Amino acid sequence: MHTSAFLGHFPARRMRRLRQTAVLRRLVAETQVLPSQLIWPLFVRPGRKERRPVSSMPGVYQLSVDEAVRAASEAVSAGVSAVLLFGIPEAKDEKASEAYARNGVVQQAVRALKREFPDLLVVTDVCLCEYMSHGHCGVVEKHRGRVRIANDPSLALLARTAVSHAEAGADIVAPSDMMDGRVAVIRSALDRHGFEETPILAYAAKYASAFYGPFREAAESAPQFGDRRSYQMDPANAREALREVALDIAEGADLVMVKPALAYLDIVHQVKATFGLPTVAYAVSAEYSMIKAAAAQGWIDEKAVTLETLLAMRRAGADLVITYAAPQVARWLREGWGPQESSHHRKANPRLLGGQDP
Ligand SMILES: [Zn+2]
Repeated sequence: MHTSAFLGHFPARRMRRLRQTAVLRRLVAETQVLPSQLIWPLFVRPGRKERRPVSSMPGVYQLSVDEAVRAASEAVSAGVSAVLLFGIPEAKDEKASEAYARNGVVQQAVRALKREFPDLLVVTDVCLCEYMSHGHCGVVEKHRGRVRIANDPSLALLARTAVSHAEAGADIVAPSDMMDGRVAVIRSALDRHGFEETPILAYAAKYASAFYGPFREAAESAPQFGDRRSYQMDPANAREALREVALDIAEGADLVMVKPALAYLDIVHQVKATFGLPTVAYAVSAEYSMIKAAAAQGWIDEKAVTLETLLAMRRAGADLVITYAAPQVARWLREGWGPQESSHHRKANPRLLGGQDP
């Protein structure tokens, strides 16, 4: 874009005029982060009054359904309007039975959350890895002496899972498995069961990323052998991401996701610019944990860095961001963007004022 023609020159043009005060800066801010744009992931597990901390993700817990309801109530009062559910089942097997069990832990959580908070948007992660004894996102088969994650046999299980979530009352289903053709199969299964109005949020460009490390502890979903590179995307590829997104849209995806977020903002930008659909960025576990770890050391300002990363995702083109920090962010947004004057890190190191880097 050539803007120089009407920009003029110094001293007529002074870019600093509009940066003088917080009010002026806010007036001309091109991008905003709002609590209504955040989705909060929740890990639900069996039991009652269970609240197990995830050691690699400070502030994140595996919650029994009653505790998930309590956590959601705090998030709702902070201004968060959407949650994304992951389940840790009682038992795992080779066909992920608990993923689509009528009384599975996610199905119970959906019912409980919708009963308590009818206006809370409940999104469910549709995948098999947390429910498979081997921890892979699809059915494992022996094929010509080699073990492989079989695409087509996985589709029926994923569709069954999505339908069971919709029957429990899920507002949006979000397939994250990266099997080919799953959006189409889920769409037609939902339609056949009378859920033609239930939107699909497709994890369309999901990369095989090392940034998922802490999540695998949270969701107890680490693969028992091999890795996920035969179905998740290669981090080297951007044009392939556009083909993945195009296919998911053609198959019926209503919203599309790029995962992870921060290291993939070029993908977020291209997806939004190319397709224009509601685009979601997933700020994954390590993105959260790295900020937490550095902030605990007093090396960065947690609030300023977190808000800046979310702003960057929005600026890149994400309409919505999935973040483990959602309730905290909603509270920060209510306080305003100013530096965290009361933070003990700031007292320990007064030079860590937001935006004061050279
Ligand atoms: Zn999975």
